[in-house]
Amino acid sequence: MRINFLGTGGSTPTLSRDNTSLLLDLQHSVILVDCPGSVSARLEKLGYQTDQVSDILVTHLHPDHVYGLPSIIHVLRNREKPLHLYGSPETIDFCLRLLQLFSLDREKIWEHIRFVKLVPGQSQNLSPRLKLTAYQVKHHSSSLAFLLAENGQRIFITGDTALDGDLLAQVVPLSVLVHDCSFPSTVAESLPALKSKHTNSLELGQAVAGLPVEILIPCHFMSELGFSVEDIEKEIRANYHGQLIMPDDFQVVEIA
Ligand SMILES: [Zn+2]
Ligand SMILES: [Zn+2]
Repeated sequence: MRINFLGTGGSTPTLSRDNTSLLLDLQHSVILVDCPGSVSARLEKLGYQTDQVSDILVTHLHPDHVYGLPSIIHVLRNREKPLHLYGSPETIDFCLRLLQLFSLDREKIWEHIRFVKLVPGQSQNLSPRLKLTAYQVKHHSSSLAFLLAENGQRIFITGDTALDGDLLAQVVPLSVLVHDCSFPSTVAESLPALKSKHTNSLELGQAVAGLPVEILIPCHFMSELGFSVEDIEKEIRANYHGQLIMPDDFQVVEIA
């Protein structure tokens, strides 16, 4: 399994960190998780073509996770093989409206896109050995987290969320946990509205310490708020001593 980080930032793209999105290169599937801008160019930089994407998972309908969808569907307008797009019913309805706005609902394009609405707890096989399961998270009414299980490897991607220890206890053991870690606790204190919808690094380290998680990858760094990712790393390390990867844009993580 290879995890490609197309972007690692929060809601505001910066020169060094674009909005968070990932490309998961699995045995028989190439899965894009979230769809901000410039995805096609970023895929090319990592050696992929947009047409290789087999499935798109959209965690929720906030702009930094979905505004590039019309572009990617436009790029793939002549595609003939199916493209599957997964999200909550609210997210999928939003995506349909977004694509209609750009007149991207023409029959020729539409017949190859399969829109799949998932509710929390629902599973779907993406290929014979790859199972996707959706979970509810504490962020927005449209939000879903995704667990992907293939050949004994389990990767859980939370999308944006406040910390939910009960949910983590439910999905472990994990090979990889990609978790919202938008800011350090010191920054969170001054931002009550954001604090209740995202996770800070101190509580993430506390929650994951002691859980059977092989690799922790924090993401969605709101570095525009004026902290460095070293501040985040230090707070996680205060409690968590397992394998930790602090991703940069275009970082590639190979999981054996
Ligand atoms: Zn976000
Ligand atoms: Zn969000």
